[in-house]
Amino acid sequence: MTVYAQPGTEGAKVTFKSRYDNWIGGEWVAPVKGQYFENPSPVNGKVFTEVAQSTAEDIELALDAAHKAAPAWGATSPAERGLVLSRIADRLEENLETLAVAETWENGKPIRECLAADIPLAIDHFRYFAGAIRTQEGGISEIDGDTVAYHFHEPLGVVGQIIPWNFPLLMATWKLAPALAAGNAIVIKPAEQTPTSIMVLIELIADLLPAGVVNVVNGFGAEAGAPLASSPRISKIAFTGETTTGRLIMQYASQNLIPVTLELGGKSPNIFFADVAEQKDSFYEKALEGFAMFALNQGEVCTCPSRALIDSSIIDGFLDDAVARTKKVVQGNPLDTDTQVGAQASNDQLQKILSYLDIGRQEGAEVLTGGEQVDLGGDLSEGFYVAPTIFRGNNSMRIFQEEIFGPVVSVAEFSGFDQAMEIANDTLYGLGSGVWSRNGNTAYRAGRAIQAGRVWTNCYHQYPAHSAFGGYKNSGIGRENHKMMLDHYQQTKNLLVSYSEDPMGLF
Ligand code: NAD
Repeated sequence: MTVYAQPGTEGAKVTFKSRYDNWIGGEWVAPVKGQYFENPSPVNGKVFTEVAQSTAEDIELALDAAHKAAPAWGATSPAERGLVLSRIADRLEENLETLAVAETWENGKPIRECLAADIPLAIDHFRYFAGAIRTQEGGISEIDGDTVAYHFHEPLGVVGQIIPWNFPLLMATWKLAPALAAGNAIVIKPAEQTPTSIMVLIELIADLLPAGVVNVVNGFGAEAGAPLASSPRISKIAFTGETTTGRLIMQYASQNLIPVTLELGGKSPNIFFADVAEQKDSFYEKALEGFAMFALNQGEVCTCPSRALIDSSIIDGFLDDAVARTKKVVQGNPLDTDTQVGAQASNDQLQKILSYLDIGRQEGAEVLTGGEQVDLGGDLSEGFYVAPTIFRGNNSMRIFQEEIFGPVVSVAEFSGFDQAMEIANDTLYGLGSGVWSRNGNTAYRAGRAIQAGRVWTNCYHQYPAHSAFGGYKNSGIGRENHKMMLDHYQQTKNLLVSYSEDPMGLF
């Protein structure tokens, strides 16, 4: 067990500045209107820094810098850009603990996740796109004996990116790595709840990128996000956040006729077929762990397996074991490497989750464990902690239909394959899902029948860089990860060339 020192105390791995400006054109730039907002840590509820509260004027400055940088960056070779991305990955690796403490302190997630998952995944993502951009091939089509069509990948130019607070560094990386690899300059707006770890990242990699290629503008959605997403000076907007905000982003983009990628909300089914309980072996234990994954990252994951669907023939015994398994999940100080569940990212989010715990009870759902706020005592008593909670009810309840974004799972039973699919697809969303079965045919048929972009089969919550991720239905448009992502950040140039000197014969 290691307990990392709190920032601001002796031995801390990261020292935050007392104030963060915007990062524009390779330097710190104060917000034009001179306003800042306070950033509290969810670990103890106390403000630890303040951050630029930007407006449309700051977005314009960042777009100026990005437009200045875009032509030269776009003209670099794939090998040159790949090298820059590799160096960024190395720099992140050298500073793994610094980034992990920064992320834990401002988001509340357990440091073991940052050390073992979030930051290593971010590093791997930069490495993956460093290689992927070099494997891209143009195309040559022989139109006829004298005519050839050449296809080239060209960057879009300057792109806008807006990200949420649940995985600040990983969400930033999912957006930055492919856009940079494809040769674009970027203006990115972090979430107002978690701006600081991205500023720490930018400080670490500042010398590796030409000035103006990545610009970070902080602030709130309406004041800073909307002017970015609606600007006629961007060639694409990539957004991750709530479905309601995603609708607005699409409206803004339609004014400028630019492409949009949206990664939005979810209400993912996690389906346990009867054969899971045939034996109490290691596969059964794995399935129980898969059930308990609803509490990973405090449930603040767009793919949180927040609806567990269990075959009626095994549900009682399975739930007894699942409750016992969930009770073993360790909640505590996020800076302690033994902690598995930390703090919710903000007080607003804490209050939203608590209101859903009330709604679940009022709807008549049974609380099998949890159901309340947690006071960890000492200097953590003002932090934002909620006990992992299991509700039992049915799929018509609001707790089954609405995204809670907390460590809460709602359990329903099904009878037979068809009913499992019916309940699984009875949702507006279609992002993640899980299927647990020892039978390959059952798992395959379920995987194909579920209307979601990602179906984890006999596993959950794995996010390799080379595996396409994105939503069906109200969960979004487009994909992230995988080299197909490069297509979202490039446009195709076609040169149609005639090598004949004969007249075309039309006029
Ligand atoms: P949100 O939509 O409120 O905020 C996301 C970002 O959008 C923030 O940076 C915010 O400042 C900005 N924003 C808000 N209003 C805006 C506007 N009018 N114009 C432009 N920008 C605006 O969402 P949130 O509460 O921060 O994030 C949680 C949501 O994100 C959840 O619903 C979750 O499911 C979703 N999410 C999805 C994925 C995915 O990959 N599909 C990943 C993480 C989170």
